[in-house]
Amino acid sequence: THKNFDAIVVGAGMSGNAAAYTMARRGLRVLQLERGEYAGSKNVQGAIMYANMLETIIPDFRNDAPLERHLVEQRFWIMDDTSHTGMHYRSDDFNELSPNRYTIIRAQFDKWFSRKVREAGGTVLCETTATELARDSSGKVIGVHTDRAGDVIQADVVVLAEGVNGLLGTRAGLRETPKPENVALAVKEMHFLPEEVIAERFGMTGDEGCVIEAAGTISRGMPGLGFLYTNRESISLGMGCLVSGLAATMEKPYDLLDGFKRHPSVRPLIAGSEVKEYAAHLIPEGGFKAIPQLFGDGWVVVGDAAQLNNAVHREGSNLAMASGRMAAEAISLINSRGKPMTKHNLSLYKAMLDKSFVMKDLRKYKDMPSLLHTNSRSFFMTYPQLISQAAKNFLRVDGTPKIEMEKATTAAFIKARSRWGLLSDAVRLAFAWR
Ligand code: FAD
Repeated sequence: THKNFDAIVVGAGMSGNAAAYTMARRGLRVLQLERGEYAGSKNVQGAIMYANMLETIIPDFRNDAPLERHLVEQRFWIMDDTSHTGMHYRSDDFNELSPNRYTIIRAQFDKWFSRKVREAGGTVLCETTATELARDSSGKVIGVHTDRAGDVIQADVVVLAEGVNGLLGTRAGLRETPKPENVALAVKEMHFLPEEVIAERFGMTGDEGCVIEAAGTISRGMPGLGFLYTNRESISLGMGCLVSGLAATMEKPYDLLDGFKRHPSVRPLIAGSEVKEYAAHLIPEGGFKAIPQLFGDGWVVVGDAAQLNNAVHREGSNLAMASGRMAAEAISLINSRGKPMTKHNLSLYKAMLDKSFVMKDLRKYKDMPSLLHTNSRSFFMTYPQLISQAAKNFLRVDGTPKIEMEKATTAAFIKARSRWGLLSDAVRLAFAWR
């Protein structure tokens, strides 16, 4: 048998497209396989797209990429059952010439990105699932088997960009199946509303957009987050919780999303909308400690399949694009030097990742997942309730002297968590954030 391609990319999501495009542009013969009917047909994302990481790959993407709104406002809400306490940031500086963050609709965006891969010379085969990795007698990955009739498709290197489930890699023993405490299940709906209604409700002009992220009693004590992103004529609304939490409590993601939608702070924002799409998807949230082996003889793994996801900042697609690009740059360099795609040579990819924001950010928050996991009830139930109560005490005017109000607030915190508990929560949070 002979080598068919320089590289095979499995998956046409953010990481796969970044990798395939970068290699094709550098003249490599690239085959990309996508099991969906088209790139993006299987993909779910909130979705905020971070421009910088795409700009590095396609500098003039703003000319024709399907972008919804550029974000000028971020709201973070801590919720109890009837209220939210918010931290909002809005800035006209975000109305810059080349905005930094956009909302996108993945089905459209991935299709566009895939077209770019083709234009750059890559071969893209949709409705094709890579079923197994092919190896030679030394164990080196030499290609893939697919669900289409025919032989193994061979290449010097396989880029695994298959997303969070990563069946191909786990089946081949390259990494473990993600553990339930390391993945969140997110459910999401698209609420359609006229463009001017969205603009008015959120105080936006033109294609300005707004994001709301919310934590608190909506996740019923589990580590979880609700989100609302404005698109041009729709609102992406969803809720994600750790799978281990859902399994332990038997809560249904649907019910949680329903609770979020019915919350008095959210309901008016989506009133009158028409729900057209519903989707569920996993998000890798184990962080730095859950990152598997990233390269080996004849293979590298990128994006969600490599657990490269920053749950604290809700960033995934940017790490996916950056890791896909870096894997592609490493491969192109090895190829141009006429060197083989050995584990040793492909370690260049890991070295590039280590030097970048990807590993630096994930390392920074390495203790966050376990902190939120072990203290989830205090962080997602008790504190939000206490904060709401404190805000209410502060604002309510009923003749009670302020000093008594303050004492009541302090007493409530101590009663719920004890002085020692409050101190230890603060210290642990500070350490995990450091
Ligand atoms: P994916 O985008 O999942 O792509 C994997 C692709 O591989 C899929 O197209 C799949 O069909 C294909 N595939 C899998 N197996 C095979 C196979 N064997 N053969 C052929 N094809 C295969 N990130 C952000 O940056 N901002 C956000 O606002 C944000 N919001 C999110 C909201 C939700 C609800 C979810 C679920 C995720 C969100 N993320 C967000 C995370 C982001 O979506 C992911 O990090 C990103 O999509 C990862 O890209 P990827 O290419 O690694 O994987």
